Formats: sequence, C-alpha cells, structure tokens
Amino acid sequence: MKKLAWILIVAVVAPSLILGALAIRSLRDQRFVLERQQSAVYQGVADSFAKRINSKLEEKQLEFGEKVQALLARTDETQLATTFDEALCADWPLAEVGFVISPGGQVLSPSLFSRPEARQFRLDNDRFFCCDSVEVYWTPVLTAASTNSSPPTKTEQRSVAPTCVIGPNIGTNQAVSKVASAPAEFVQLMGSAKEGVVARFLRDQLKLMLWYKPTPSKMDSVYGVQLNLPKFIGEFRALAKVEPAFAQDIVVAFLDDAARPIALSDTNYAAPNWKRPFVASEVGEALPHWEVGVYLKNPAKMGHSAKLATIALASLISGLFVVIAIGCWFVIRCLRKELDLAQQKTDFVSNVSHELKTPLTSIRMFSELLANGHVDDAEKRRSYSNIITAETARLSRLINNVLDFARISHGEKKYNFQQCDAADVVRSTVESYRPNLESKGFTVKVQLPQQPLMVNADRDALAQVLVNLISNAEKYSNGTKEIEIDGARSNGTVRIEVLDRGTGIPVGSEEKIFEQFYRAHESLSSGIQGSGLGLTLARQIARAHGGDVVFHRRETGGSCFVIELKSNN
Ligand code: ADP
Repeated sequence: MKKLAWILIVAVVAPSLILGALAIRSLRDQRFVLERQQSAVYQGVADSFAKRINSKLEEKQLEFGEKVQALLARTDETQLATTFDEALCADWPLAEVGFVISPGGQVLSPSLFSRPEARQFRLDNDRFFCCDSVEVYWTPVLTAASTNSSPPTKTEQRSVAPTCVIGPNIGTNQAVSKVASAPAEFVQLMGSAKEGVVARFLRDQLKLMLWYKPTPSKMDSVYGVQLNLPKFIGEFRALAKVEPAFAQDIVVAFLDDAARPIALSDTNYAAPNWKRPFVASEVGEALPHWEVGVYLKNPAKMGHSAKLATIALASLISGLFVVIAIGCWFVIRCLRKELDLAQQKTDFVSNVSHELKTPLTSIRMFSELLANGHVDDAEKRRSYSNIITAETARLSRLINNVLDFARISHGEKKYNFQQCDAADVVRSTVESYRPNLESKGFTVKVQLPQQPLMVNADRDALAQVLVNLISNAEKYSNGTKEIEIDGARSNGTVRIEVLDRGTGIPVGSEEKIFEQFYRAHESLSSGIQGSGLGLTLARQIARAHGGDVVFHRRETGGSCFVIELKSNN
C-alpha cells in the first residue's frame, strides 16, 4: 500500500501538480497573449493598407511618365522645356507645378515670372536642383552596378522600412519611425535611375515631387511635377476599407504627419486620441511620417475576452484537477478492496484447511476406536457412528460449498428446475439433520402449513441453502440451543425462515455477511470454524431461482435468515 502511494505520488500527483502550476502561470499571461495575437492580425491589416497607398503612388508615377511621353510626342522638346508647367497643369489635375531641369541643373520651366505657385516653387527648389544639399526623404535606386561595386553611402544606409514595436506596451502605440531625412543634392538623388520620388518638408508642409527622364531625349532634361497634395490624398479615401470580418472591431485610418485622419474606414468613428492607435504602419518615405493606424472600436472588449479565456482555462484546469483527484481516490479504493479480498482469500485457505482437518481427525479417531474392537458398549458404538456420520456430512457440505462456489464463479453451475414442494424439502432436510442437532442438545422446531408450498426449484440446491442456514444457526448458537424453521406463503412468495437465539450479526455487517469470504465472527477469536462462503452461496443459489436470502435481526436476540422464492401454487 505504501509502495502504491509512492507510485501514485510520483506518477500522477506530482506531474499533475507541475502541469497545474504551469497552466496557472500561463493563465496570468492570457491578456498579453490575446493582445499579441490580435496585434499580429491587425498589423497585417495596417500593412496591407500602407502597401495599397504605395501602389497608388507607383501608379501615379507611371501615369506621370506617360503624360511626359505624350507631351513630348505632341510638342517639340525645346519648346516643351519652357512651356512644360502650363502644358502639364492643363492636362493633369494632380499637377501643382510642372518642372524641367537641364543636365546642368538649370530650371527651364516654370518661368520665374509665371504664376505665384510656380515662382514659390522656383524660390524653394532652384538651389536644390543645381547644386545645394537639402534635407530630403528618398530611396536610393540601387542599380546592378552599384550593388556589386561600391559600398552604400552614408545616406544609403538609412533604414526606411516602417516598423512597429509590439511588446508588453501593446495598445499604447509605441511605434518607432525609422523614416528619416538626410541632406542630398538632386543629382545625387537621381543617380542612374529613370524616375523617382522626392519628399521635402517646407514651412512645415510636405511637398511631394515626381521626376522622370524620358528616353530617347535630345536635351537629356529631367521632367518633374510637384503634386497637388490635397487632390492626391483625396484618391486614398476609397482605399480605406476593412474586411467585413474586422469591421465590427476595428477602424483603419490614414494619418498625415500631424496625426490628423485623412481617410477612415468608418467615417462615424472619432478616436479619443489619434496619436495612440492599437497598431500602426508607416507608409514610407514617399509620405514621410504619414502612417496607417488601426484603432479598436471597443478596447474593453479585449479585456473581456481575455477574462473569459482565463475563466474558461481556469475552469478546465480545476475540472482536470477534480477528475485526477477522483481518479486517484477510485484507484486507492479499488486497490484497498483488492487487498482486502487477497487477505480474505488467505484467511479462506487457512479456514478451509482447519475445517477439513477437524472432521477428518474425528472421523479417523472414532473409526479407529470402532475398528480396534475396544468399544464393547453398544450405546457408545452407536454414538461414535453417529459422530462419524455427522462429521462426514459436515465434510461433504464444506467440499460441496467450495466446489459450488467455484462452479458459480465460472458460470458453470447447472440447476435442475422442477415443480417441487418447498415444505417437503424443509421437512426431509431438517429430519436428516435433527439427530445430529438433538444429540448436541438443540431443540429443533418446525412449523409448516398443511398445504404444499409449490415452487419451481432444484431440490438439491434448495436443500443446500437450507443446510447452510441451519448449520450457521448451530455454529453461532452461542449456547442458546434453539432453532426454529418456519415455512409459509404470503403475497405470492414462499418464505422459509431459519431462526436462532445465537450471537446475532454485528451492526454494520448485515449485508457484508453475504460477500464472499467475509466472516463477521473471526474464526481465531471466536473459535468457530468457517469458510465465509455459506451465505454467499445461499444467496447466489436463491437468486438463480429468482428469489433471495435476506437477514433480519430478531428483536428478542438472535438471527433470522429468510429464503424467499416465487410461489407456484
Ligand atoms: P462461515 O463459513 O464463516 O459461517 P457464512 O458465509 O456462512 O460463512 O457466514 C458468514 C458470516 O456470517 C459468518 O462468519 C458469521 O460471522 C455470520 N453468520 C452467519 N450466520 C449466522 C448466524 N446464524 N448467527 C450469527 N452470525 C452468523
């Protein structure tokens, strides 16, 4: 038992406790895990919106190149170099100022004397186009030659990929911008590329320029456009959409560099603080410090979901603990039962050995006395013969019980059911027993009705049940040698009662006495021989007949065992 307890502790209880502790630890991180999962999903939404904006920009760049090529096809290149601003603005609503730069960095268009926007443009950019380095946001175009040969310049080393730090501070939007400006000349920006984008902040306002080098070109000029930003941004509004699956939970917003919402997936939504999105993704250096933010419509919902997940997990863990505890309890109970049974079997073997030995000793002793011819007294000889007969009967009863028990346990016991008179079985069984009982000083009283008590039964099996009960009444008589056997029929049941005035059954053992090998009066302490099988067999046989054997405590002391059988009268 002790060994088993250790096995249980090492193999079941300890691993369960460790698993439980790990599970409880993971419970605490539920909210964090949930936020992490959601932020990963929503980051994807923000990134895809940012990607769409960049695609739109690439689209506009292509469109601009086509416009330039179309204008060059219509107009002579020398003439277009001076009239490009007017021609482009007339043709393309997104153009704010069109410009042409000669290979030497001279601005050919617009004229310094044209409209105010063009003049301002010249003032802002002339020096940048010809020779000055200014702060710009740009992506160096790496040609095959440049990637293979020279190491990237200082400005080329800038990381421009937008990143969003997701960690324990999720929800507090700790986005870190990696889009940075660097001083560069226009010629340096162009490198050997054919087209590009330049973003500059002038007087706190973003200026976005596209440039394009047409091929073939006589003058080798660069054509460019400063975009009309409000109009350009207007085109993004249609892009701000969220998949229906997320529409209930989030709003996607396109924010300018001052965190003002430009486009919203849900126009009715107003964030408490636009600067604190749940997750964000920067558009890139074409629109520096502009970003796509994802806002939770109901931030409390996540806490609620985390709480629900925690409760569900906690209940599951507790449930598992309860199941493990119940399982352990069952295992211990079953093992205890098995141990008890093993003990009872051991007792049974020693009890049966005793029971076999006692009658055998008597039989041997008295038969030897008779055989030697030393007993002259006829009365004594008769008495010795009676003892031998009684002991032989006891021996065969015990052997029958053991054999029948084995047969019943293996389901091999066969009954010969037939209509018989239970009163007749009682009479003949008692009469065959009476001499033995009376010789020991017992009074045996039998009360049976005149009419037969018809039952469908195996006569021998029924007699065996009765013999077991009478034998017990004799064994546990405790000096009060009164046995009574009554038979009667009531409510369609034949009841045969075996009553004694003996020791009675200890309280709490009323049902246990019918269990195999169970003995209420320990053989050693009581000195009464027994195998613990008599009542087990009696009940099993009675039940095979559709009846039962039950115990009743007698008010005035002693026991009453009743054989109940279905009446066939
Ligand atoms: P056993 O061979 O020990 O008599 P049984 O199955 O016949 O086995 O009886 C089981 C136990 O029930 C006995 O050990 C005894 O303690 C108790 N018992 C049975 N019959 C009587 C009785 N008539 N009076 C008191 N105790 C009884």
